[in-house]
Amino acid sequence: MSNFILHLDMNSYFASVEQQANSFLRGKPVGVCAYLAPRGCIIASSKEAKKLGIKVGCTVEKAKQIYPKIILVENEPAKYRSTTKKIFNILSDYTDRIEPYSIDEAFLDMTGHIKNWQQGEKIILEIKARIKKEVGEWLACSAGLSWTRFLAKFASDICEKDSYLLIDSIAKMEDIFNRVKITEAWGIKERMQVHLNRLGIFNLLDLKNFPVANIMQALGKPGYYLWANANGVEVQGIRTQEEILPKSIGHSYCMPRHTTDLKYLAGILMKLSEKTGRRLRIQGLEARGIYAGYWLKYGGGFFKSKKVPSALFTTEEIFKAAQNLLFKTLPPRAVTMLAVSVTQLQPLTNQLDLFYSLDKKRFACQAMDKINDKFGEYTIFNGTMWGLGDQAHDRIGFRKSVEIMDKLDRFSYEPI
Ligand SMILES: [Mg+2]
Repeated sequence: MSNFILHLDMNSYFASVEQQANSFLRGKPVGVCAYLAPRGCIIASSKEAKKLGIKVGCTVEKAKQIYPKIILVENEPAKYRSTTKKIFNILSDYTDRIEPYSIDEAFLDMTGHIKNWQQGEKIILEIKARIKKEVGEWLACSAGLSWTRFLAKFASDICEKDSYLLIDSIAKMEDIFNRVKITEAWGIKERMQVHLNRLGIFNLLDLKNFPVANIMQALGKPGYYLWANANGVEVQGIRTQEEILPKSIGHSYCMPRHTTDLKYLAGILMKLSEKTGRRLRIQGLEARGIYAGYWLKYGGGFFKSKKVPSALFTTEEIFKAAQNLLFKTLPPRAVTMLAVSVTQLQPLTNQLDLFYSLDKKRFACQAMDKINDKFGEYTIFNGTMWGLGDQAHDRIGFRKSVEIMDKLDRFSYEPI
């Protein structure tokens, strides 16, 4: 047991940040909403609101029924982002290996930075105190310390709010496994519980002691991960931002039709943006930069990269950024290849998770993704792609598209 992994999770984060910013809200039931209309969703509720049963996902209408005097505020992502930055700055004083897991959660690899559990406990208390002192007295967090990433998160998930839990031995782990519901474990939802019950696994201790070969036979690879997590075996470890993030995501396409037809080119560009955007969104990322270009018939071309003022996320945002970069420069010569790539990738910061988008356009785009996930690519798509014809969907050759950065880095820059 030589590893020390710390997981930190801010409590009622968005609501606490609002209460921190406005002392009038402190100690009162507060709901942070996607938007304030009756159908708007609560995306974070203060601990006082939680006590009344007003949870995340509750509509504004319902929240008012439960407690008419509830204070509802519209979310302000910039405020949460800047607060997170301050918190993560404090965390970076303790280790250089930090995995930002969400806007209000992080894993810290303390291995090599502390020698024993007591030191770890001291650091947890210090971090909690520093967040209150340096960022805001109303900001509380839960922390878990153990020897694997899973156990650290499990510990902070099950401990009391504004406190911490150390899982520092197999005996303590087994004792806790015997007491908590299996669905409290990170990654085990009701559906998995049904599968596990069928195997005779009713709590985490059963899972720990189950023969690994049998669980793998029943559940495949996921079965192994479950078993390993319950046995204190590290399956993933900490991955820092640099290790997780791809450098860029992009697609290029050599066109069967060499043309100056802007409508056709816009259609192709939209499709490349959609392919790029889908991959960006699947990975929960947004982009601060765009890189796009084209080749012309009889040689020559144009490639340019640009930083964008607000992060790219939707297909439309990517398309517009690429179009701005390219279409003004198009000479009256046929285009043979188009390329789009998003760069300077970062984890999505202005939403809770992929299902609670705070921005209507982003939300619509994610809804389209879900439809295409379920019913197949291009079940629903932007009208600009219209007219590429059905053949384009199958035969356009996107499967052959490549990561354009690698390719274009070697491409000699030929301005026109
Ligand atoms: Mg939290």
